[in-house]
Amino acid sequence: MISDFQNKKILLVSPHPDDVEIGMGGTTIILSKKNKLFHIICTNGSRSFNKYKDKETLIRNRKKESEKCNKFMNINKFFYYGLNNISTNKNINLFKTHFLSNLDEIDPDIIFCPHPTLDKHPTHRKISEIILENLKNRKIKIFFYEVWGAFNKYDHYVNIDKVIKKKVKMINFHKSQIYYKDYALGIAGLNHYHAIFNDFGKEKIQYIEVFVENIT
Ligand SMILES: [Zn+2]
Repeated sequence: MISDFQNKKILLVSPHPDDVEIGMGGTTIILSKKNKLFHIICTNGSRSFNKYKDKETLIRNRKKESEKCNKFMNINKFFYYGLNNISTNKNINLFKTHFLSNLDEIDPDIIFCPHPTLDKHPTHRKISEIILENLKNRKIKIFFYEVWGAFNKYDHYVNIDKVIKKKVKMINFHKSQIYYKDYALGIAGLNHYHAIFNDFGKEKIQYIEVFVENIT
């Protein structure tokens, strides 16, 4: 079970500064107790809703929000690539270069990233696609977390009842984002939905995060 992982080097990949928090914030808190966590944030999130007067302020604030949140999540080391997007060849190559050098440095046992086809955000899909292409011949277990687009079927779930308050807090660190959308409420609702419709029998679990395993 994912929640039983111990003594692993786990690499979490967020295409935007808040994706891991949204998709697997509860699981991250649980895993941080007995594993080493590394977190890559690929883009600067400058294409999101902007309540500030310029793009630079948004980028700076999103980075600050991430730094605070990563401390709260007990991330051992976090890598901020700061790319504007992943839609030009130049940025794709930059991403690959950073990612491959981080892979050598970390040598992870496990990677978590969004789903390369089921996720609804093109940037998420693209990044996962590049990751998968560049992992050939490496023995790394890969799990996909859910961001935009609920999974109809999944291979694993993690009971996050004990850490749901922390997850909500993590999402709310991203003030620039929750300003225009109540992400925490929406995502807690999704985690609750999965728990209610999962067949737990007598167990009364309230919130779960779900994962698809990459089986190659
Ligand atoms: Zn995202």
